[in-house]
Amino acid sequence: MNGATHDLVIAGGGLAGASLACAAGVTGRRVAIIESFAVDDERQPSFDERTIALTLSSRRVFEAIGAWAAVADEAGAIESIHVSDRGRFGAARLDRRHVGAEALGYVVPTRALGRALTARIGTMDNVELLCPATAERLEQGAGPVAVHTTDGRRLQAPLLVLADGGRSTLGRQAGLALQTRDYPQMALVAVVGVSRDHGRRAYERFTGHGPLALLPMTGRRMALAWTLPADQARALVDADEAGFLDALQAAFGWRQGRFTRAGTRRAYPLSLGHLRTPVSDRVVAIGNAAHVVHPVAGQGFNLGLRDVADLAEQLADCWRRGDDIGTPAALRAYADRRSRQVRRVERLTDGLIGLFTSTTPGLPTLRTLGLNLVDLCPPVKRMLLERTMGRHGRLPHLVRGALPRGGG
Ligand SMILES: Cc1cc2nc3c(=O)[nH]c(=O)nc-3n(C[C@H](O)[C@H](O)[C@H](O)COP(=O)(O)OP(=O)(O)OC[C@H]3O[C@@H](n4cnc5c(N)ncnc54)[C@H](O)[C@@H]3O)c2cc1C
Repeated sequence: MNGATHDLVIAGGGLAGASLACAAGVTGRRVAIIESFAVDDERQPSFDERTIALTLSSRRVFEAIGAWAAVADEAGAIESIHVSDRGRFGAARLDRRHVGAEALGYVVPTRALGRALTARIGTMDNVELLCPATAERLEQGAGPVAVHTTDGRRLQAPLLVLADGGRSTLGRQAGLALQTRDYPQMALVAVVGVSRDHGRRAYERFTGHGPLALLPMTGRRMALAWTLPADQARALVDADEAGFLDALQAAFGWRQGRFTRAGTRRAYPLSLGHLRTPVSDRVVAIGNAAHVVHPVAGQGFNLGLRDVADLAEQLADCWRRGDDIGTPAALRAYADRRSRQVRRVERLTDGLIGLFTSTTPGLPTLRTLGLNLVDLCPPVKRMLLERTMGRHGRLPHLVRGALPRGGG
């Protein structure tokens, strides 16, 4: 395209942006990615203290883009999940054997993912990483879209991808501002030690305030994500280690033995962020810039990585055919492809929070009944797992572990 400095520019090099740079980079096209903070900078908001659950489909994407080998040693496999309602007898047990999979998912520190993606980008001469640099202004008009960076560059391409997270300033400039609704709780995260072998089992325990998730890591460590009213979350971040472990033991019980230690604790505000459409003139938003969901069920980045897989496939198709990737028709096709899954995950996560925090009389009994029914019904378990593992519907090449056609 006349005047373009690159074939693709990505603003934001966190989990979603860096993954897309790897996926688009393998086509050999000129890709630029702009990121404000280096991977080991303490202020880096995407690669931080969180340890997140990746689905098996997300693992396949990481394998296909050449970033899995570097995190494999730090990835803890989830073989089963125990879902329960605190203080009640209902429970559902989901197991990898219900879907014949090697694992239901993997638990990986985001910092390890960041290092692996950055290293992979470094192996591709056609991918230019501008970091530290901030994309501050964009120009949408007749020709290619242009973006200005704080270090004085002006990059132009047929398509600009916004992967700059849930507070996207560029999104507002492009008319893609998220509609957000804050949840009254925060999520407290920490890596904790346990005295009993976890046997690669994850726990999702619903309390009156929201879910408490414990995910198996390598060794006798588990990643905790505990939803609490904001003031309690902050108090537990500031509590001494013994006080914190006591509170956790009281909330979770003794199923995993004793909680022996806790690493760095951090509390995150929670919100639901929704876009009517993720596309505007030669601009497309992916990852948290396009949708923010509650971390219950560990779906946020898995959903963002599916944006990456679908967009990478469409880019490779267009480039192979010599088509313009930024036309309204091409962007509409991408938006249509993504809308169903995004809406479904938004509804699922928001619905779960409503269902398990509601005090409506009779609802707790119905929940218990529901969990027991799921537990007794293998086809329902299979359906639930297939959907939450990202194996439902039409799967792009990357999700099947392969590069898009024309993708190197
Ligand atoms: C407590 C908690 C637990 C979670 N657990 C899970 C889980 O188990 N599984 C899961 O799938 N998801 C989980 N998530 C969700 C997941 O963390 C997010 O979906 C993911 O971080 C989104 O990645 P992103 O790259 O879209 O956005 P971000 O992580 O927000 O990254 C945006 C990047 O853009 C950069 N940036 C911003 N503005 C600019 C600019 N103008 N110029 C240049 N760079 C810019 C930022 O520095 C950052 O690197 C969890 C979230 C929370 C809060």
